[in-house]
Amino acid sequence: MDYCLRELEGKQANDPLFMKKMNNNNNHKSSSTTPSQVYEQTQRVFVHGPVIVGAGPSGLAAAACLKEKNIPCIILERSNCIASLWQLKTYDRLRLHLPKQFCELPFMEFPSNFPTYPSKQQFIKYLEDYAERFGIRPRFNETVKNAEFDSKIGCWKLKSFSSKGDLTTEYVCRWLIVATGENAEAVVPNIEGVDEFDGIIRHTSLYKSGEEFRGKKVLVVGCGNSGMEVCLDLCNHDATPSLVVRDSVHVLPREMLGKSTFGLSMWLLKWFPLRLVDRFLLIVSWLMLGDTSQLGLDRPSLGPLQLKNLSGKTPVLDVGTLAKIKGGHIKVRPSIKRLKRHTVEFIDGRSENFDGIILATGYKSNVPYWLKEEDMFSKKDGFPMKPFPNGWKGKNGLYAVGFTKRGLLGASMDAKRIAIDIERCLEAEK
Ligand SMILES: Cc1cc2nc3c(=O)[nH]c(=O)nc-3n(C[C@H](O)[C@H](O)[C@H](O)COP(=O)(O)OP(=O)(O)OC[C@H]3O[C@@H](n4cnc5c(N)ncnc54)[C@H](O)[C@@H]3O)c2cc1C
Repeated sequence: MDYCLRELEGKQANDPLFMKKMNNNNNHKSSSTTPSQVYEQTQRVFVHGPVIVGAGPSGLAAAACLKEKNIPCIILERSNCIASLWQLKTYDRLRLHLPKQFCELPFMEFPSNFPTYPSKQQFIKYLEDYAERFGIRPRFNETVKNAEFDSKIGCWKLKSFSSKGDLTTEYVCRWLIVATGENAEAVVPNIEGVDEFDGIIRHTSLYKSGEEFRGKKVLVVGCGNSGMEVCLDLCNHDATPSLVVRDSVHVLPREMLGKSTFGLSMWLLKWFPLRLVDRFLLIVSWLMLGDTSQLGLDRPSLGPLQLKNLSGKTPVLDVGTLAKIKGGHIKVRPSIKRLKRHTVEFIDGRSENFDGIILATGYKSNVPYWLKEEDMFSKKDGFPMKPFPNGWKGKNGLYAVGFTKRGLLGASMDAKRIAIDIERCLEAEK
C-alpha cells in the first residue's frame, strides 16, 4: 500500500498532464485568496559543497565520487525515490540492454550472482545498495524550477519547489551538477485526430505490461529498443501488435559469436577502425537476422557505430522481436496520417482499427526549462554543446553528468572527472 502511494506520488511528479492541472488549480487558488491565505514558505540554504540536481544513476555516481574525496554535497530529486526513471517509468519486463559490466557505477560491481543482463528490479536493488553504501540521502519531492549564476557573489542560486507546492527553497552553492538525465520528459508527438480516438493512448513511460491489452489490437509507434520490446511483450500477452516504423533503423542481435554485441564492438574498436567494425557488425547481423529491409526495417546508410557517434542514435539490440515480425505476429506499418474514433489512417492510404496506441516516441532533456545559462547547454535539445568527451564541464562551477548518449558507462566517466575537478579547485584554494 505504502509502495503504491509512493509510486503514485512519484508518477504524478513526472506526469506533465497532472502537473499542468495542479498549476492551473494553484493559479486559480491564488487569484481567489489574499496573500495572507497562501501558506507558501520560502527558506534559504547555503550549501558548503556542490548541489546535484537529479537522483538517478548519474546523480548517485557523482555523489559517490565526491563522497570518496570527502566533499559534502546535496542531491535534489523531484520524485520520491532514487532512480525514478527505472522505478516509476519503465515496463515490467525491462532488463539492462547492455551486459552488467558496462553498467556499473564507480567503486561498486554488480553482485556476481546477478545475470549478465540484470532485470529492472535487480538494477534498482543495485542502485539502492549503492546509495546505502555511500550514505547518499537525496532530498526528495523537490523540483528545481530555476537555477542561475549570481556573478556578484560568485555562486549558483537554485529555486526548488516541494511537490505539494507549499515550500520554496533557495539553495546557494559554488558548484552545480546537472544530473537530470537525457530522459527527463516524455516526447509525445502531435497526431491529427488524437482527441477523436476512443481507445487508450499511452506513452511507454506509463506502460507496465501487456496484461492490460490481452486480446486487443495495439499500435506501437516507434521502433527503438523500447518500441520493439513493448511489441514483444504484447505478443507474449496474446495481444496483436503492429509497429509503426517511420525511420530507418539498425537492428543487431544482442549477442554475436557467443559474446555481447556491445562488448565485442568495444573490443574490436581497440584494434580496427570504426568503419571496419561497422562492416563486421552488419555482415554478422545479416547472417544471423537476414535482410531486415525485407521486413520493412530499412538500414540507415551510415553504419551502426558511426551513426551512434554522429547522432547519438542507438542501434536496436534484438531480443526476439524480429522473429515475431518474421512469423507475422507483429505487422510493420508506415507513419500515421490521422486518427479517427476507432481507426488509424496510415500515410500509404490504409486504414485499420485499433484498441490502443502505445507511443514509444522517446524522451528529452528538461535542462532548458530550468537552467538559465547560455554557454554550456543547447537551448534546442538541452544537451551540452561540446561533443563527447568534453561536455561535462562548463563555466563558473557548472557540470553535467549523464548527457553523453553513452548510457551508464558515460555517466560514470563524467562523475569521476567532476569529483577530481572540484577536489582540484578546493586544493588550489587551500
Ligand atoms: C527503457 C530504458 C532502458 C535503458 N537501458 C540502459 C542500459 O541497459 N544501459 C545503459 O547504460 N543505459 C540504459 N538506459 C539509459 C538511461 O538513460 C540510463 O540507464 C540512466 O537511467 C541514466 O541515468 P541519469 O541519472 O542520467 O538519468 P535518469 O535516470 O533519468 O535520472 C534523472 C533524475 O533527475 C530527476 N529530475 C529531472 N528533472 C529534475 C528537476 N528539475 N529537479 C529535480 N529532479 C529532477 C528525475 O526525476 C530523475 O530521477 C536506458 C534508458 C531507458 C529509458
